[in-house]
Amino acid sequence: MAASPNDLKARIIDYIDEIGPRLIHISQTIHANPELAFEEFESSKLLADTAESHGYAVERGVGGLPTAFVATSANGRGPTIAFLAEYDALPGLGHACGHNIIGTAATGAALAIQAIRDELHGTVKLIGTPAEERGGGKAILAERGIFADVDAAMMIHPGAKAMVARGSIASNSLVFEFHGKAAHAAAAPDQGINALDACIQTFNNINALRQHLTPDVRIHAIITHGGKAPNIVPDYARAEFSVRAATSDESLDVVEKVIRCAEAGALAAGATMKATHQRHYAHRIPNPTLARLFAENVGAVGETVVSPDPNERKGSSDMGNVSHLLPAIHPYIPIIDPGEGGPHTPEFAVAAASERGNQALLRAAKALAMTAVDLLTQPELVEQAKAELAAVANPNARWRQMRFFGE
Ligand SMILES: [Zn+2]
Ligand SMILES: [Zn+2]
Repeated sequence: MAASPNDLKARIIDYIDEIGPRLIHISQTIHANPELAFEEFESSKLLADTAESHGYAVERGVGGLPTAFVATSANGRGPTIAFLAEYDALPGLGHACGHNIIGTAATGAALAIQAIRDELHGTVKLIGTPAEERGGGKAILAERGIFADVDAAMMIHPGAKAMVARGSIASNSLVFEFHGKAAHAAAAPDQGINALDACIQTFNNINALRQHLTPDVRIHAIITHGGKAPNIVPDYARAEFSVRAATSDESLDVVEKVIRCAEAGALAAGATMKATHQRHYAHRIPNPTLARLFAENVGAVGETVVSPDPNERKGSSDMGNVSHLLPAIHPYIPIIDPGEGGPHTPEFAVAAASERGNQALLRAAKALAMTAVDLLTQPELVEQAKAELAAVANPNARWRQMRFFGE
């Protein structure tokens, strides 16, 4: 007789405990050698090699991204479940978002499935997704079809609370470049066209716009190029903007308004302006069925799941794009107490390599693998999850018609 799901879950728990020291070593190794977006060569290799050594067939450099990979283990017919691994770090702060835990937990879950592989029909993938912090690896991989044959995707993110169904807001990266005309700033300013003024005027226009936006909107920016010397009228200026709102469609409405602000800034200065919409992170749709299963499993290994506070502020993630294409969850597991320093702080970087972080990593790996057991032993749950997504996702949404990454 086939083993029951509960027997299989018990074996997963034992197995993760058995390989726990090795997983912790992997997490600590990635943490000690932080690699930035698209440069995660050692981190991605470590995880891909680990999966390969346990029988996964590994394809490296998928989707045209050298540090992306797909590791696959199949056993007959059944759903395809993916664990998503992140492993990029932050400039100056190292692993202050704890992606060493994300990548290692996903890999640990993949190894645990392999330990009970004969008992489960279907396919499990470990997908290495680079550049979550800057570049949107999952958005690129999604646009290039890497998730096309996946039925459900899961990852975990370290945080300050265990939450299973927290969404995220939509985000757009915009670049504005202003071209003017250089001239001597004192002797012949009338001969110049000031690209920096066009850029500054853009910021002022947007600040005027803010009063007339909904409270969920976030617009934040830096000027990366503002001229070469004070005595030369700047002939080139460049700014990078993030434009966010609760949903993808709402964020695209704001993008149009922000572009008009830049057009007006350029017009006022007599400069020309080029706008580049570099990427879109969709708002995240947490799948209710996957979230319920994950909550049961992570609860069974000792986490207390809580709901997000009402009006809790949220960021954005490239997992949002995946969550519109297939059922997905991006749950959180605590490695630090609320108020002690959230993601992107030095305190969080310390927590990501702490004993508490190590233990959270092992619980996360268990809960991911246990949830995969539920989905592979009860494929009707995958169909239920897909029906839930179909009821809320819009295949004709504007962002899904847009192409950001070319070939
Ligand atoms: Zn982050
Ligand atoms: Zn993160």
